[in-house]
Amino acid sequence: MAKINLTICDICGDRSKDAAPYTIKTEEGSFSADLCEDDAKPIKGVLDRIKNRPVVRRPGRVPVATMEDIEKLKGN
Ligand SMILES: [Zn+2]
Repeated sequence: MAKINLTICDICGDRSKDAAPYTIKTEEGSFSADLCEDDAKPIKGVLDRIKNRPVVRRPGRVPVATMEDIEKLKGN
């Protein structure tokens, strides 16, 4: 008897649908789940939007201080 490795969706548990593993990293941590095509649709939709977004160069978040600013902060 052949063994069939079937990944079952963690959300609907439907054995008739093949599921794929997904890992989502957020501020709250990293989450892994096996999702069928239907349950993965919202994620894929977001992914497509991320992939297709225009590349926007954001200025660095770290403020740049000049030596002058640092001297002022020291109160000299
Ligand atoms: Zn599902």
